[in-house]
Amino acid sequence: MNETPAILILGGTSEARTLAAKLSQLPVRVITSLAGRTKRPAEIPGEIHTGGFGGIAGLSRFIAVEDIHLVVDATHPFAEQISRNAMLACAEWQVERLRLERPAWQPQPGDQWIHAGNLEDAARLLPTLCKRPLVTVGSNDFHFFRDIHGPEIYARMIEEPPFDERPPSCHILLERGPFDHTHEMALFSRHEIDLLVTKNSGGTMIDAKLDVARERGIPVLMIDRPAALPGPRAATAAEALDWLKMKLDF
Ligand code: NAP
Repeated sequence: MNETPAILILGGTSEARTLAAKLSQLPVRVITSLAGRTKRPAEIPGEIHTGGFGGIAGLSRFIAVEDIHLVVDATHPFAEQISRNAMLACAEWQVERLRLERPAWQPQPGDQWIHAGNLEDAARLLPTLCKRPLVTVGSNDFHFFRDIHGPEIYARMIEEPPFDERPPSCHILLERGPFDHTHEMALFSRHEIDLLVTKNSGGTMIDAKLDVARERGIPVLMIDRPAALPGPRAATAAEALDWLKMKLDF
């Protein structure tokens, strides 16, 4: 190992950015990797690696070549592939890995959550539950809903999905969050939304839609997170920093 330990943060979340900023104050080399899907990612202190590694083998090579000492997987809760790749590549070199994942949303009194195990389940259930759903799964995953006939789908996302990935009866609402309560209430009311579809991303940035669904007595088709992988976990950047300091003897 080089004298300055290198830490790889698999990023793309606000938690990853916060951790990189905290680590920039310490005598470590910090590399944050991004999938490269966001056109203008926020500023991140330290080195940046953009784009995939090339599967498990590519990530494993990167860990060896860059002499990575510790890995923090701070990717989105639904980014299953990269998390699994990280687990396997780290195991190959016996590099320790921490999963940094914000807590999932929990139902509040008055919530009517219908759970879906994944996006396929959500698309299968949706036509039985509503006439005018608001679907907020993002443009990359909207294709799961393309074969739905019947409900008039309102789909909110940042970027236009391809035409062949849309269901026949849908309205695309192009908007970038965060959205406040007033905004969400007006949207639900304007389109007479009768079901909210969302992944359980967690965090505080985008939960006004959950408050509004509860207040309007509208059910939520909640797509549950994939099963957690084995290994140590942190819920905040501060917790992750404590773990790293302990491992580095700082
Ligand atoms: P993924 O399916 O786990 O990853 C697919 C591939 O992208 C990986 O195998 C890897 O390519 C590359 N990759 C992903 N994250 C990377 C990172 N941090 N650094 C370097 N390479 C990375 O992840 P995803 O395609 O990003 O997303 C999967 C799910 O997560 C979708 O449901 C998506 O909507 C959701 N997601 C949501 C948000 C959000 O802000 N709402 C953000 C991210 C993801 P190689 O195999 O070539 O290394």
